[in-house]
Amino acid sequence: MRRPIHRREFLGTTAAASLSTLAIGAAAARPPGPKRPIVVASANGLKAIEKAMEMVKQGRDPLDAAIEAVAIVEADPTDHSVGLGGLPNEDGVVELDAAVMHGPTHGGGSVASLRNILHPAAVARLVMKRTRHVLLVGEGALRFARAHGFPEINLLTEEARQIWLHWKETRDPDDDWVPPPPEAVAAFVPEYIRKRVTGTIHCSVLDTHGDLGCTTTTSGLSWKIPGRVGDSPILGAGLYLDNEVGSAGSTGVGEANLLNLSSHLVVEGMRAGKGPKDAVMDACKRIATTSVRDPKRRRPDGRTTFDVKFYAVSKDGTFFGGSIYPGGKMAVHDGDSAKLVDCEPLYDTK
Ligand code: ASP
Repeated sequence: MRRPIHRREFLGTTAAASLSTLAIGAAAARPPGPKRPIVVASANGLKAIEKAMEMVKQGRDPLDAAIEAVAIVEADPTDHSVGLGGLPNEDGVVELDAAVMHGPTHGGGSVASLRNILHPAAVARLVMKRTRHVLLVGEGALRFARAHGFPEINLLTEEARQIWLHWKETRDPDDDWVPPPPEAVAAFVPEYIRKRVTGTIHCSVLDTHGDLGCTTTTSGLSWKIPGRVGDSPILGAGLYLDNEVGSAGSTGVGEANLLNLSSHLVVEGMRAGKGPKDAVMDACKRIATTSVRDPKRRRPDGRTTFDVKFYAVSKDGTFFGGSIYPGGKMAVHDGDSAKLVDCEPLYDTK
């Protein structure tokens, strides 16, 4: 969920200071190849995919393109689901999850519950390139980021703090927090309280050589229990790729992807010969079937209590966005233009 960008806020000095860290671990460019590049992303990635496309046209690595693309959203304080300005956990602390996968090397790296670092996807790339591990969490991930020169910044913006405080003060009439009088509540607050904010950015890139890279980065579910890790930093859940097959990633309530390793499922579907559309819709059906066995994930009508969306591109450049419920969008750049397209839903109604 986001509000219109005010340019002055967007170009914060802390964000600018951290931008140089995006270069750490990036690969050298090579001459562009002959293939048609494709970039897909979640709906909040419309600007981001322009950046990724510009980079792959210059022969940059597909993962580096994906990381620089999502960095725009990580540094955008008006997107309350990713990086700076992300809504915090229930204690008011912003904890980030991010992962990357690199097609040509089948490499992957991720960070979870990372605090104070603006570009977690770039840190995940360093976990992939500069360690023998795949996943670093919490304090260890922060120390690792610091070791590589990532500056620490306060990710809790004033706006996000006010939204969180209102949630805290209104959630339980029997606790000792007292809400302010209605006229003292800032106009932007209520929409974030009415509905729990979810959101993330995923970006998959197919470059001019037919190589793939992808990343998913998020501040996770608002008001999560401290230490909760979602699907975004788990390879196979919030993203997956195989350079011979295709790439897929997801946004939405991550627990469903953790329970079904859904992004892996999508890529394996494509490996078995399905197009991205059938592979994605089969993953949605799998989630819809398995999740409702648990009463806490089942609505009275037998459908899931939550939505997830998938963004997929196959090695041959076919792409598709799908979801469980209608209303989702995917950002796509086909080499000519960037646009938002509807995600195809499993169910016609919400
Ligand atoms: N998938 C993210 C998570 O569960 C949140 C989202 O995409 O809305 O942390």
